[in-house]
Parts: sequence; structure tokens; C-alpha cells
Amino acid sequence: MAVSRREFLKASAAATALMAIGAPVVKAAGSDGMDRWVKGVCRFCGTGCGVLVGVRGGKAVMVKGDPNNHNAGFLCLKGALMPPIIYAKERVTKPLIRKNGKLTPVSWDEALDYTAGKFKAVLKSDGPNAVAFYGSGQALTEETYLASKIFKAGLRCNNVEGNPRLCMASAVGGYVTTFGKDEPMGSYEDIDAATCFFIIGSNTSECHPILFKRIASRKQSDKNVKIIVVDPRKTNTARIADLHVSFKPGTDLAILNAMAYHIIQEELDNPRFHGRYVNFMNNKKEKVSFEDYQKFLADYTPEKAEALSGVPAATIRKMAQWFAESSATMSLWCMGINQRIRGVWANNLIHNLHLLTGKIGKPGSTPFSLTGQPNACGGVRDTGGLSHLLPAGRLIKKAEHRAEMEKLWGLAPGTINPKPGLHTVALYNALGQGKVKALLMLCTNPAHSLPNVNKHQAALARKDTFVCVIEAFRDAETLKFADVVLPPAFWCEREGVYGCSERRYSLISKAIDPPGQARPSVNILVDLAKRMGVDPKLVNFKNSAEVWDEWRAVARPTPYNFWGMTRERMRKESGIRWPCPDEKHPGTNIRYVRGEDPNIPKDHPRKYHFYGKPDGRAVIWLRPYKGAAEEPDAQYPFVLTTGRVIDHWHTGTMTMKVPELRKSFPKAYVELAAADAKKMGINNGDNVKLETRRDKMVFQARVSDVCRPGLVFVPFFDVHLLINKLTLDAFDPGSKQPEYKICAVRVSKV
Ligand code: SF4
Repeated sequence: MAVSRREFLKASAAATALMAIGAPVVKAAGSDGMDRWVKGVCRFCGTGCGVLVGVRGGKAVMVKGDPNNHNAGFLCLKGALMPPIIYAKERVTKPLIRKNGKLTPVSWDEALDYTAGKFKAVLKSDGPNAVAFYGSGQALTEETYLASKIFKAGLRCNNVEGNPRLCMASAVGGYVTTFGKDEPMGSYEDIDAATCFFIIGSNTSECHPILFKRIASRKQSDKNVKIIVVDPRKTNTARIADLHVSFKPGTDLAILNAMAYHIIQEELDNPRFHGRYVNFMNNKKEKVSFEDYQKFLADYTPEKAEALSGVPAATIRKMAQWFAESSATMSLWCMGINQRIRGVWANNLIHNLHLLTGKIGKPGSTPFSLTGQPNACGGVRDTGGLSHLLPAGRLIKKAEHRAEMEKLWGLAPGTINPKPGLHTVALYNALGQGKVKALLMLCTNPAHSLPNVNKHQAALARKDTFVCVIEAFRDAETLKFADVVLPPAFWCEREGVYGCSERRYSLISKAIDPPGQARPSVNILVDLAKRMGVDPKLVNFKNSAEVWDEWRAVARPTPYNFWGMTRERMRKESGIRWPCPDEKHPGTNIRYVRGEDPNIPKDHPRKYHFYGKPDGRAVIWLRPYKGAAEEPDAQYPFVLTTGRVIDHWHTGTMTMKVPELRKSFPKAYVELAAADAKKMGINNGDNVKLETRRDKMVFQARVSDVCRPGLVFVPFFDVHLLINKLTLDAFDPGSKQPEYKICAVRVSKV
């Protein structure tokens, strides 16, 4: 029995209206008619809002915000409009094998045996480096942990990757190189205490709406709170800024160094802090002095940065001043910083500003990367679901880490392959070259989301390549290339954990049964592994709760320790932040500070202890300016950038199924600066051709003041207008994250 359309829309509209006026969604007792409300987490962005799923007659009919999670009952429209997605007609409900070119329903036994047979054949003929797993920041923590274990421990294959490589790898690289450990030290609570927000490369209002709401509330609560938004586009986020700084795309490194220059020039730095808790290091990883750092920064006076970036020197000084003089500064960033060929360096330079001024480890003072996906942090980063990682921050290249994991997994010494596997772009290149021949994917849509996607679609289309996808929706672009499709239980149809941007793990409880023959991915992976010949002892799990318990034990000896988050406790509470070493521990708000972080003994002699580094000191890096991989030139004079819009999630396979969201943004478009449009005689709605060195496509124009002149923007949700045919797959040499945010493009009226 489903809720009526009218009833649903009424409830959704009420939720939205309440959100807009700033009151949490509250249940009027007895008025909702639900059989029960089941606790979970939103399926979409890295904000990780807690939800309550209203179940009636065995169906999920309504979603509202969990008042006990960090979102205090608020949701954006995407989160509130989940039910139509669950019941979409495009759900895959039976296993499918491509026969005579057509995906054809088969039994589970046939699909699993066929897939396992293909993998076994490749393993036998070409060895473990010829197979691969490609996962997702939307899979459950237990699913990614298990898949990574199956491949790394069971098949001796380190080709384990996932789409977080495309969105968060540079943030990981930034945290690890600066602090020695991944993940932010702060939390969302810092938003409520910050007096200055430095938002760079993040359109928070559209990509993390509930966090944006919290930032806006903070601003409303105190007129002295300042917001700086550094973005070449004047987004909705920029519209509440006290200072919006538009700059030439790709010059952010120069701007950040110039801010550091000014902070030191004006003696706004905090020598007590950086003298005691920081090392200075050059790009050769040599320790240098504070004076060397000053000499390095002499190349980045605000005037020199102005010449590169187009940002007036006075504006750079003002930003630096606000950053350093506020009582508590919080930096927030996302893909604009990470999706760059020097994304790790850009991350380092943001951390530098906090370490230089000592604005770190105090309420409201923290660098804080925003995560794109709901479980990129908890699932892929923490469990080691990338080709160079092992669980809980351990590295494949470190012999002691491999030995530790071999012991924990009960493997013979030397089982884990010592060579890191292929990162995402390299993996799809290897697929195109016929070096990787069998690929298992879980909950991701790379035929839409990879940059320079024509090239990678051709790789997936190779006749000698076997592709098996575990995917809920038959209209995902990647299914065009699948040999086998396995139907998973989706979202609240199974139980498991998501970990959001602030190290918070929250449980999604099972609310309803999956449709048809769909099954939890944990069970699919266990069955497949056994048929592939993986030692059954390695995958002796009946459900995700058992995987969670093993993952807790594996993380326990590390600073990720969340031993205290038992399944029983997670069922009762609405999210807990790690470290959380025992069941009585409330979770950790601020890392690296004595008295706050349980990894630091209470009698430790130093207040701040960056225990990821051998001497407990974080690093201020001397990172030079480096432009984009493909700068505009006479042939391709504009910069193309891509991103999200508020009502769509990633490749649109879910949100395009919700009529309200589809109506809001029915198709992709190109956003142009009014000045550029005028020069080219382009009006709103005109057809405009975009042409890069990879491909060309036509979009309808939206002329506005959002883009700066010389920049065009296209959202990437639309499968019918696949902008990734035009983007570039150059990547950061450190993080291997591609530079989606910048490529050169020619623009013309059709
Ligand atoms: S802000 Fe993100 S996590 Fe929260 S409801 Fe919206 S999409 Fe979901």
C-alpha cells in the first residue's frame, strides 16, 4: 500500500517549507499513518544527513529528517524525495546475462557461475593483475571492506579502485602529507563556532545544502561572522558572502601562497604555534627553516599573484587579514580544489594557512574538506578501497602494514601483493589496452562519470573484456557495456553503515524487502568470491553486521579505532564520530588535541600532537604555483568547468526518476557570462556548440552573471548530454585524481 501522490507531495512540500523557514521536520503524533519509522542515512551527498523512513504496508512511502542526527531533522529536496526512486520501473530485479547482444534474465546460480568462470579463466591465463574491482563512495562500508578483502587477500589483486578517486583523492593526499593521517580533524560543530568561513572551490549551497543552511544560520546569528567565497563562478554560495573572490581558473595555488605571504608580512602568523607544532618542508621532502619559507613566498607577493590570477592585490590582502584576524576560521573546500592536477598541493596550501596562524584544533578553527559522496570517507577511504591502500590508513607499499593485515586476515606471510594496483585512469587505460580483462563493478556508473569518457567507453566495449556490474537501475549508462548485471538490494532494503565528511558513522537500518530477486551486495560478493575460488574462511560472513564486527577489529589497533561502535549501539544512536575506542566513549569532536582525541594520552607533554607524523609535527609545505594541464589558447580560448546542480545527484540515474527534480533541471545546459554571450550574439536558450580536443556537443545557453568572462559551466547529470565526452583525464601525479574542473574549449553559436 503506497501513500497517495497527493499525500506524498503534501508531506514533501511541508518538509521543504519547514526547511526553508528554519524549523526541523517534526512528526505530529498519530497524524502520519505510518506503520513504523526506520532510522537511516540519506542516499546522496557527503553531508550524510540522518533520515527516518516511513514504512506503510511493507513499502517505504515517506522520508523525513532524523532530529537526533547532525542535521537536526532537516533535509534538502533530494533526500526528502527518495521513495519514487526505490519503486522506479527501471529497477533491476533479476540477474541478467548478455545473450545475443541482449541482457537476458537468468537464475542467480547461472549468473554467479558464469561470472566466476570468466574471472577464473582470466586469473589462470593472465594472473591476478588482469582482473579488477571498481567500487563506489555510495556502497556500504561493509561492502567496500569485503570487496577489497576478496581482491587483495583472496585473489592477490590490488586493482581495487572506486569513484572516490575521482572526487576525494587529493583531499586524502593533502591530509596525509600535512598531518600524516587521512580525514578531517574537525566536525560540523565547528560551523556553529566559526567567525570566519573561507570557502574555496565549493558550491556548498548546491552540493551540501544542509551544511550551507547551517553556515547561513551561523551568519544570521552573529553579524560579525564573515564569509569569504573564492570561486570563478558567482554561485548561490557566493551570494551570501561578504567577499566573493573570482579568479582565473587554475591560479588558486598562487592566491593561497600570496595569502601566506601577507599573513607573515603583517605578523599575523602565530610563531608560538608553528614554532612548536610544525615542520617546514620543500618539494624534495627536505626540512627547511621558517626563513626559507619566507624566501619561497617572496615569489608570491599579492601583486605577483594578481598578475597571474586577476585578483586585485588588495583583495588578497583583505582575505588574508580576515582569515588571520578572526577569532575562529574554518576553511571548507570540495571538488574545485580536489579535481586539479595539483589538487594535493592546493590542499596542502589551505592547511598551511591554518598551521601558520594556529587556527586549528579549537572550536570553529579548522581546515575541513567536504566530501562528495555519502560514504566515500567511511566506505572507501577508511576501509582501504583504493589500489594503494589497506584498511584503516595502512599502505600496500609498507611491508609492516601488509604483515599486520596478513596476520589479521589469517593469511600466510607474503600473500598480499607488495605492488600497489592501478589507479582509476590507469585501470581504464589498461582495460583499453587489453591488459585488464575482467572487471567487477559495484554501485557506480563510470561510463557516464569518467573524464574523457569516449576513450573509456571504448575500453569497456572491447569484445575481449568481461564486465560484471552490481547495479540497481537498468538505465545506467554503464549497463550498455555489461556482460552480466547482478541486482542488489538498494538503500534501506538492506542494513549497513555510511561514514560522512565529519568521521561520523551512521547505520542505515533495513526498512523494507528488496524487490524480485535483488539481494544485499554483501551476500552477492560472498557467493561470488566462493565460486571464484577464494578461501571460504576469508568470506565467512552471513550478513553486513558480521563484516562490520571484523572491520571494527581490523581498525582497532590504529588511530581510526571505532571499537566502541557496536552494531547494537549504532542501532540506538544517530551516528558517532571516530575515534571511539570503547562503548562508553561518546565519539571524538576534535582530533590531534590532548583531552579531546583518545589517541593522545591524557598526560602527553604536548597539547597538539599530530601523531601521524614521526615527531608529532604537522608540515607546512613549500608548494609552487602550477597552472592547469590544458590552459586556454587561441584555438580553444575558453575554460570549461563542470559540476553539480542542487536537484540532481551525480549521473542522474536516481534523481532523474523523481518528477519534481527532473522538472527542476530537465537537461544539461551551458552557462555563459553575459559579457561573452553579448560578444558572440548568444541569447538565453540559443544553441551553443562546445568543442574541445576530445569531442564536440551542443547545449542550450543560460546567460547570467554566474560565470566570469572566459569561463563556461556545464552540469554533468545528463546522460543524453554527456559532458564528460569533452573533459580531460589528465590527473594529479600524487593523488591520481583527474582535472575535471579545467579544460580548454571553443564556444560558438550554432
Ligand atoms: S544535504 Fe545531502 S545528505 Fe542531506 S538531505 Fe540533501 S542530499 Fe541528502
